[in-house]
Amino acid sequence: MSEQTTTSSSMADPQARLAATSGIERVPGSTKPDPILEVDNIVRNFGGITAVDVGHLEVQRGIITALIGPNGAGKTTFFNLITGFDKPTSAKSGAHWSFDGRKLDKTSASSVALAGMVRTFQLTKALNRMTVMDNMMLGARDQKGENLLFGPIWASWRKQEREIEERAKELLDRFQLLEKKDDYAGSLSGGQRKLLEMARALMSHPKMIMLDEPMAGVNPALTQSLLGHIQSLRDEGMTVLFVEHDMHMVRHISDWVVVMAEGKIISEGRADEVMADQAVIDAYLGAHHDTDLGDDALLEDEAMDRIAHEVAAEKAERDEQAKNEGAGT
Ligand code: ATP
Repeated sequence: MSEQTTTSSSMADPQARLAATSGIERVPGSTKPDPILEVDNIVRNFGGITAVDVGHLEVQRGIITALIGPNGAGKTTFFNLITGFDKPTSAKSGAHWSFDGRKLDKTSASSVALAGMVRTFQLTKALNRMTVMDNMMLGARDQKGENLLFGPIWASWRKQEREIEERAKELLDRFQLLEKKDDYAGSLSGGQRKLLEMARALMSHPKMIMLDEPMAGVNPALTQSLLGHIQSLRDEGMTVLFVEHDMHMVRHISDWVVVMAEGKIISEGRADEVMADQAVIDAYLGAHHDTDLGDDALLEDEAMDRIAHEVAAEKAERDEQAKNEGAGT
């Protein structure tokens, strides 16, 4: 039933992924060999603040791309814009984007989802009061039974219902949530909620899944399993784009990283490359000093410490390697 949960893509092979990204220029807005998403001139102002100002961005098909950046960089606003949940301020001045060859700039959020680009949502209070299974059923697309045109055709409605239910059970089983299907979503742990958010999004057979902070609130025991699930989506042929503050996760699973700061794309490359990029380090440091530090300050400090530590460790490793190579010649 699910064409994406059974097949294996060439991108399951790390060498193939390296080959797919090795020729890409390490510059913001670089051209990709096979982009599934292309965005141009997308600007969003809130009063005097420019939250997003992206000139050009391409997302390579079939790999895991991380979108990172300091607090307030515009990542969530960008996600909202391209998925049709917000409208660009630049609508009249040439903002356009396309997904899998299909123009999306004038379409609604549901049309974007139908085109195959689906984002996960944190479970709202209302969804928490529904069972896990009902959440899944709501995540399905093409529920013809709820459509006036098809509703009266009982046989078609029943068939569709059964198929949706089967798909829901398959996904819940895959994400180890089948036993919880009749429980309220609100009773799940932080990690299980993240799994449910992902499973819901997969109900509509997306080509690209967009995850907003998939690791937030997940306890370490479930981290590995969540990472494994994300990687297997990629290995089965799906494109993954995710926003994340946890730099360990970014390093661990991304094939490509795009960095935003003050609404703009400031760097692109593999994780180790962008984290050693001075523009990225400056952006994180700048945001750290300039931002009015609220609750997110802890997160920011932690992320900064990790980056600084990792950059220093990598530099030491490179210096050591250079020294050894020098000694060997
Ligand atoms: P974080 O990592 O903290 O979630 P982010 O990179 O997702 O941040 P956004 O939430 O997109 O950043 O915010 C970008 C900028 O736009 C911020 O300055 C924010 O205050 C502002 N902003 C976002 N949404 C609104 C809104 N609805 N009204 C006014 N300003 C907004």
